[in-house]
Amino acid sequence: MITLALSKGRIFDETLPLLREAGIEVSEDPEKSRKLILATNDPGVRVVLVRATDVPTYVQYGGADLGVTGLDTLIEHGNQGLYQPLDLQIAKCRVSVAVRADFDYANAVRQGSRLRVATKYVGIAREFFAAKGVHVDLIKLYGSMELAPLTGLADAIVDLVSTGNTLKANHLVEVERIMDISSRLVVNQAALKLKQAPMRRLIDAFARAVPAA
Ligand code: AMP
Repeated sequence: MITLALSKGRIFDETLPLLREAGIEVSEDPEKSRKLILATNDPGVRVVLVRATDVPTYVQYGGADLGVTGLDTLIEHGNQGLYQPLDLQIAKCRVSVAVRADFDYANAVRQGSRLRVATKYVGIAREFFAAKGVHVDLIKLYGSMELAPLTGLADAIVDLVSTGNTLKANHLVEVERIMDISSRLVVNQAALKLKQAPMRRLIDAFARAVPAA
């Protein structure tokens, strides 16, 4: 049995067509069922639903043989023990710095001010600002980062941006683009050895299903 870890929402929705191209149909809609383990039309493949930030952990420790996770989540988790064979080109977005429209970010950076930055992506933010030589106090948040500059909790946020609509709705502006993000297929290395033939078949099927970059 091969176990694939997915998170509900954008990653699940955008992985389904790739699975379908690989001949695999998930038998239930996770939005309608409370089940955490979903069967597929292939008796040798099942899907487990986990939180997005838990996908690398499940794959690392063998709770799942492979998984789909955003590059952002993967970088924050660290790459320990995870083989990353494919960029699936789905759930594309970027990690950016955003501030209130009335905050002069460029001037604050030029003057060497210490910035308070709220983010879920502490590792990515720390590395980015260190490389720029900007001193920051990082405030770890787990959600609704956009609220931080509006309430005075932080001067800036580091968050995922896709269309930019969420920033706009909250009167925030994107001032730096840190990196482009897409979802990756990650694989447990031991599983790849122990279940070589079916794992290879699934990875190759994913590879064929990925649209050319
Ligand atoms: P948008 O309004 O389209 O710029 O989307 C921004 C909001 O959606 C932010 O709250 C992000 O955290 C979230 N978001 C955007 N893209 C992704 C993605 N690929 N994966 C997870 N969350 C995302």
